[in-house]
Amino acid sequence: MSVFTLHLVDRIGSVSRTSEIAFWNAAMRSMIQNELQQLFNRVVNDPRARPVSSARVLWTNHSGGVGPADLVVYFSTDRAHGVTQRVAAQAAQHSHTGQTLLGDSAGIVSEVYVSGHLQVGGFDSLGTRQKASLFAKGAFHECMHNKLYPLNIHTGGGGGLASATLSYDFGLVARNIDLMAPALQVAAPQNTAHMGRR
Ligand SMILES: [Zn+2]
Repeated sequence: MSVFTLHLVDRIGSVSRTSEIAFWNAAMRSMIQNELQQLFNRVVNDPRARPVSSARVLWTNHSGGVGPADLVVYFSTDRAHGVTQRVAAQAAQHSHTGQTLLGDSAGIVSEVYVSGHLQVGGFDSLGTRQKASLFAKGAFHECMHNKLYPLNIHTGGGGGLASATLSYDFGLVARNIDLMAPALQVAAPQNTAHMGRR
């Protein structure tokens, strides 16, 4: 039995300039963490996740604890200030809200662009919990790109959290779990080089 860990990296508030996004704070990070924990609990509860029997989601800046099958999701302000900007690899979709870059020798980069969401219509009027839910689901979506490549999850992911455009009230669908449960144990080397710096 083994544990799958999702490492969330805050590149916005971890060093300074915490106030640059008014709604980005410890409470928001906690809501995102809790929601992702619930999502991954549902994935590991599927028998096809074995030998992975439990999941944990944590905020961290330490690359040392990233296991071979773990995932890392960076939270940055926007694409221009993102880790993805520093990686020479094929671009992916979602330039405003998030991105996963594959095929770089340094490892896979998954990233959520927090202020990038402000370019999405209606985002600003969402409540705090709805914003957190959208970020959590965006992170799960990037985890799907990360683990399921080369599958195009937008067309083959079954909708739900695999949908190309997400809403805060979207949820896991059976196909999402079908795909992710057996993938949790598959090694997917992550780019951990930016965990300790902006
Ligand atoms: Zn996508």
